[in-house]
Amino acid sequence: MTGQTHIVAGVAAAAVVATITHHSLTPALIVCGGIGGLAPDLDHPEALLTRHVPGISWVVRMGQAAGWWRHRGLWHSLLFWMGTLILVPVLGRLMLHGLWAVGVGLGHPESVTWLRHLWGSGSDWGWGAGYLSHMLIDTWNTTGVQWFWPVRLWVHSPVPNILVGTWPETLIRWGIQGALILWRPELGILVVASSWGIYQSIHWI
Ligand SMILES: [Zn+2]
Repeated sequence: MTGQTHIVAGVAAAAVVATITHHSLTPALIVCGGIGGLAPDLDHPEALLTRHVPGISWVVRMGQAAGWWRHRGLWHSLLFWMGTLILVPVLGRLMLHGLWAVGVGLGHPESVTWLRHLWGSGSDWGWGAGYLSHMLIDTWNTTGVQWFWPVRLWVHSPVPNILVGTWPETLIRWGIQGALILWRPELGILVVASSWGIYQSIHWI
């Protein structure tokens, strides 16, 4: 599926998990849902995130050339998903320490505390839900997904068999947003607006 669809599905998954578990809809949860929704496609050199994050593209090409991974294999597996659930919070803490050091260096540590408060909690939940939504959505694709890598089993739904960028994919994207608006209008509008914002921000990088 396209990056746009994965962002919508990732943000929607994060927002639904937050609503069901009565967690507040923080920027951390929403943004990490969208980025987590895109992350598995970092195994593809032409994917949205790969093209816009500086330096990532050659790492992906190198990994594919070396045979470390192939598209919808390792990066789309339950094993890798669980690995990111450990790794991403550690990276998040490191980034926060780095930001804190910059704040102290500039003589304004209180601004880092303020930003941290504004960002909120739930980044790990959002990431986990978004990443998993990607694997679920890709399972509708013709090739399918190696959910149980290193077992070389391609899991895909027999019907519908959806090709990337075709009108059924657009229908799925609008279906997710429409269903959320019908379920909880304010939640649906938040998902539509924030997905659009994340998509535009990545293009801006
Ligand atoms: Zn994918």
